[in-house]
Amino acid sequence: MQDSPDNTRMRFLLDLRRRGIGDQAVLRALEEVPRDAFLPAEMAAVAYADQALPIDCGQTISQPFVVAYMTEQLAMRPHHRVLEIGTGSGYQAAVLSRLAHRVVTIERYRTLADTAQARLNDLGFQNVEVIAGEGAQGAGDHAPFDRIRVTAAADTVPSALIDQLAVGGMLIAPLGPPDGVQHLTKVTKTETGEQRATLIPVRFVPLVAGKAQHL
Ligand code: SAH
Repeated sequence: MQDSPDNTRMRFLLDLRRRGIGDQAVLRALEEVPRDAFLPAEMAAVAYADQALPIDCGQTISQPFVVAYMTEQLAMRPHHRVLEIGTGSGYQAAVLSRLAHRVVTIERYRTLADTAQARLNDLGFQNVEVIAGEGAQGAGDHAPFDRIRVTAAADTVPSALIDQLAVGGMLIAPLGPPDGVQHLTKVTKTETGEQRATLIPVRFVPLVAGKAQHL
């Protein structure tokens, strides 16, 4: 028997709690963002399953647990200015936008960037700006950022992103090989340098150099 939409979403939240997400504001943000609206219509039935799913341009929408975990690790505050690299569907940006003052998000595929911006506008997420471009360069004209989230995997954190982080700011990124298991890594910028912490294993699509030539 198929669950009602309400039951499906309640189970979605219970699963996040059971997996260790305890921050009420993060749980509320995930509750308030309709993940089905960020997916092709034919995938609505699985929108609240805890898995990454395919979107256009061969990319993926992130797994809800990983979205919640990354958001919780970033300890978001309402005055924060946030940069995201890898807009994809716009889902993670929408979740961030519920917890921050302003979100700037960069996507190398123009199709994805334009679709995400239109979708975010339609859904009323007004504090998100989507930029089509090369994420590894960050968005210098909007810097500094209190928080930076990278949602595509690389061996190292692009140095421009560390440069654009405010002192006391935090960045989270999946670091590791493109075809293997990466680890979420948290970087905190200090007066004198940075501190790093290695968190859970994850799998993200690769951070690809350069703006996409087509699409
Ligand atoms: N946060 C997204 C999922 C991200 S998938 C969501 O919630 O749906 C990773 C995205 O990063 C893909 O859309 C990919 O095209 C993009 N990407 C990869 N390399 C990039 C780069 N160098 N600059 C900007 N975007 C990049």
